[in-house]
Amino acid sequence: MNKDFEQFRRDGSRAVDWIAEYLEHAAELPVLSQVKPGEILASLPQHPPATGEPFESVLEDLGNKILPGVTNWQSPNFFAYFPANSSPASVVGELLCAGLGVQGMLWATSPACTELEIRVLDWLVEMLGLPEQFASTHNGGGVIQDSASSANLCAMLAGRERATQFSSNEAGCNQRLTAYTSSQAHSSMEKAVKIAGIGRKNLRTIEVDEKFAMRPAALAQAIEEDKRDGKVPCFVGATVGTTSTLAFDPLPEIAAICREHNIWLHVDAAMAGTAALCPEFRWIHRGLELVDSYCFDAHKWMVTNFDCTCFYVADRKALTETLSITPEYLRNPASASGAVVDFRDWHIPLGRRFRALKLWCVIRHYGVEGLQQMIRKHVDLTRIFADWLKADSRFELMAPVALNLICFRLKGEDEVNERLLKNLNTSGKVYLSHTKLNQKYTLRFCIGQTYTEKEHVESAWRAIQSHAGALSSSAAVAEQA
Ligand code: PLP
Repeated sequence: MNKDFEQFRRDGSRAVDWIAEYLEHAAELPVLSQVKPGEILASLPQHPPATGEPFESVLEDLGNKILPGVTNWQSPNFFAYFPANSSPASVVGELLCAGLGVQGMLWATSPACTELEIRVLDWLVEMLGLPEQFASTHNGGGVIQDSASSANLCAMLAGRERATQFSSNEAGCNQRLTAYTSSQAHSSMEKAVKIAGIGRKNLRTIEVDEKFAMRPAALAQAIEEDKRDGKVPCFVGATVGTTSTLAFDPLPEIAAICREHNIWLHVDAAMAGTAALCPEFRWIHRGLELVDSYCFDAHKWMVTNFDCTCFYVADRKALTETLSITPEYLRNPASASGAVVDFRDWHIPLGRRFRALKLWCVIRHYGVEGLQQMIRKHVDLTRIFADWLKADSRFELMAPVALNLICFRLKGEDEVNERLLKNLNTSGKVYLSHTKLNQKYTLRFCIGQTYTEKEHVESAWRAIQSHAGALSSSAAVAEQA
């Protein structure tokens, strides 16, 4: 390989220019990619080039061939799912991470990778007002994982081990183990029981109340019934901000039940957790001091590009005892001294990127106040949107609006709502997603994109109204015919 760093400087600055241009004009692109299956694949050469090509050609193909197949998550008109928002500061952090190319599996393989991560995750404890047991200065600590799905799995594994006196790892999984989440919990919980060997049949999905939050009494009843049947309850996964409706499971009541039965309680706050940057939204974490583990995704609402899940445990020993394996080739004096943290023991993969750089860049660039401003703006815009919706009698709200998600539908048939969503998304002007609530097809509108301003929400609302109008006039014409 030649060491042509001049070329790297040129190509690198072209790439940054390309990204800046892209972000500046993302609002003009169709939000949802409009390509057909296989279209991008067919446009790409079947065989790799035998000799290297100039970066200009790569960039040209990126614009002409790849970009049409990109759904523009960084468009201010993106309102689907939960956001995966980003920011220039985060992109720069990601670039630095790639540039250093560190593999920080052990403290010894790059001390700064571990220690910066400890520092920024401790900063986040302070920034979000998390309980102090999650700080590295206490018995717990935080670690960056690739996704909330992985964090949920790690928490479940630790719960499984604690409930079986750390014997399931050795003797195989105890088929009598049971786990509990609400019926609204994220599907990663179901995946986790499969991977953890607990088995889908042993996952109890607890019913929810009219606000889609877990009913603690139903949880207590399920646990008691299972115990009477000789089962071993090992894990409860509560959610702070469920995927479908942003519902909040009542942590104090759930924690009291878990404590009574000595069950690991994990809290998944994938998107909503970021709201706690603002003291006025910290109610979402009421009771968090009573839980065993917690995660939120900085890669959803905290302008840190995917992937960056922050996972915290109150007792780091339970986690590392669950996941630690030390083959000879990883032994080193620093680990043996016990004076350092080896994050390979805190998650599934051995290898790890220097992801803390992204968070460090984001937090230093925006400061706590800059991040708070964005969250407050999104929540304000959501309230405004909800007011418009309530004032239009054609629509109904399907769930409480607590932070930045609105679940709504046109009064009437599911089919009309499906058509409304399809028409909106194929227009390319906005992108929304859907769920089913009380058996009814429901549209989800989530405001969390870095660049979303009032004008984007206004134009989305105009599009929704006009597509709804077009649907009702075509229905009227069909009725007359
Ligand atoms: N948990 C909740 C509540 C979610 O809403 C999501 C995704 O939207 C996840 C977990 C999965 O997130 P990730 O993509 O980080 O695994």
